[in-house]
Amino acid sequence: MRKHIVVLLFVSVLSATPSACGPAQTPVPTLTPTATKEPIPTVSVPEDSDFHVNPIEGLSPDFIMGADVSMLKQIEDNGGKFYVDGEAADALEILKAHGVNWIRLRIWNDPTDENGEPLGGGNNDLETTVAIAARAKAMGFKFLLDFHYSDWWADPGKQNMPKAWEGLDSEALNQALYDYTAEVIKTLAGEDAMPDMVQIGNEVNSGMMWPAGKTWSEGAEVVGGYDGFADLLKQSVQAVRDNDPNAADPEKRVKIIIHLADGGNNSLYRTMFDELTARDVPFDIIGLSYYSYWHGPMEDFINNMADISARYDKNLVVLEAAYAFTLEDADGHANLFPSEEFGGYKASIQGQATAVRDVIAAVAHVPNGRGLGIFYWEPEWIAVEGAGWATAEGNAWENQALFDFEGSALPSLNVFNMVKTDQVDGFIPATVTEVYPIAVAFAFDEEIVLPTTVKAVYSDDSIRDADVMWAEISAEWLEEAGVYELTGTIEGSDLQATASITTGGDKNYLVNAGFESGSFSPWVVDGDAGAVDISNERQNLHEGKYAVHYWADEAFALSVTQTVTGLENGTYVLSAWIQGGGGEDVLQLFADCGGETQTVDVPTNGWLNWYTPTIENIQVTDGTCTVGMNVVASGGQWAFLDETSLYLVE
Ligand code: CA
Repeated sequence: MRKHIVVLLFVSVLSATPSACGPAQTPVPTLTPTATKEPIPTVSVPEDSDFHVNPIEGLSPDFIMGADVSMLKQIEDNGGKFYVDGEAADALEILKAHGVNWIRLRIWNDPTDENGEPLGGGNNDLETTVAIAARAKAMGFKFLLDFHYSDWWADPGKQNMPKAWEGLDSEALNQALYDYTAEVIKTLAGEDAMPDMVQIGNEVNSGMMWPAGKTWSEGAEVVGGYDGFADLLKQSVQAVRDNDPNAADPEKRVKIIIHLADGGNNSLYRTMFDELTARDVPFDIIGLSYYSYWHGPMEDFINNMADISARYDKNLVVLEAAYAFTLEDADGHANLFPSEEFGGYKASIQGQATAVRDVIAAVAHVPNGRGLGIFYWEPEWIAVEGAGWATAEGNAWENQALFDFEGSALPSLNVFNMVKTDQVDGFIPATVTEVYPIAVAFAFDEEIVLPTTVKAVYSDDSIRDADVMWAEISAEWLEEAGVYELTGTIEGSDLQATASITTGGDKNYLVNAGFESGSFSPWVVDGDAGAVDISNERQNLHEGKYAVHYWADEAFALSVTQTVTGLENGTYVLSAWIQGGGGEDVLQLFADCGGETQTVDVPTNGWLNWYTPTIENIQVTDGTCTVGMNVVASGGQWAFLDETSLYLVE
């Protein structure tokens, strides 16, 4: 770590010596190390803390330990300050001392409103980008430039065309894209701020520069599709190559990245990169975002990286990852971090460090050394008035910074140095420190089946499934209604699991009612089966790990049904949880139980607005009932179905 500091100071002394580039007769002054300031220390860990980061074997010395610091200038302009153990210091110097070796900066075409006022969220125009990039390059950082090709935030949900380019025909748009890209690269090169990697578009799951580069359409919308997107990518890549002094050298030239979100979603990556490679789009690296609380289990992320690195013969970089160190909020503006259980770690300094460590390990262990590194998304984004996600708005991310609410470096910032094997004490296996109790309910005629795993917190503040061996269930519990406690043993731990078992309740006659088997059976899909899948996108589920999801880029019609036999005749009620974008010609639950088919329409109207459509007074007369969901939709329409139930009322 000290070695890094010495290199850094040497570079800054050189760049501060104008005579080095002056006339030959000017004497070159002797470098005087005594005149330089003290190296910035790394943040100390309290002595009474058992904070620890396990080393990662086989880390390349070139492994990218990156930080997206796009907010930095706006934070500093508004008085934000950074500290290490009480001493104020430059944020980039602090990151450097803690092992960060790359920075990433987004660039927006024109981040101003109709009155020319800045939109905020970093105001990352070319001037802002030059200012941060030149400063970082002079300090020895490498630099990834993130073209959004939009005037403001671009992500999977929105890729708005820059206002100056709206309405241009295809030829004019391609020219505008080429000229703008060329100007940005030339300007950066002229300011000693040449990027080392460039990503063409940001989280382009659905293309960029909509509608010209949008890969799917809603209703009658006219879009460029994959052909349009591929053409735009090629223009942009050509503009970078044409202005790169090292373009002829495949080793030294600027590396081109194409970046998708949802790092655990293999079908997304296969779909996009099959389409782009079929159109010969030139690129060097696949970029991924992986936020564990949004993008699915770590296992899916690891499997996806192994698959796509081999399938496309490409290196990978994680361009965005982050985790919370607290659930507190500094500025009254609600934070985005959703939950510890979804994320898989406690929202603590230890949990944050372990989460980052696990992403680094996953990337470092991509087969054949294909994983080049990670970028932490905005470690410096502390809550400072005037530096919110939008002008006059607050910060939704300060609990995921690597600095506390006062700007002091957190011990978790040490993670980038501590994972390097030669800098830490050794590997300490994590042990169980807490077991989450479970509560389950059963009807009298159901078999009591308990889960084979429970959620447990480990000493590294990870939250994982632990295998559990339950004690014996008493037969009496299914004869007398009540709430019974059962304990279980956890292998390798003295801590016990506990289950609260309620018996005598209503029986849900639907099987796999919450789709928690991870597959449809015994549900049956009819119609356009390609438009429906079992999703594990945690942010879209109501309960558990899975839900049914439908979406297609063209019109579709389908049903998801289950037939229940052997029912006691009587009155039943059907219910489910559904959220979606709305607008379908048909979205309804139905019950076909011998008499006339009963239906209820579902008026979905937006993300996470959950509805519980219910059909009451279902008369079952011959012991059989078929229930389910009918959908007739246009391209782009979507919904999630979770937690279905069919109860006997009387
Ligand atoms: Ca906040």
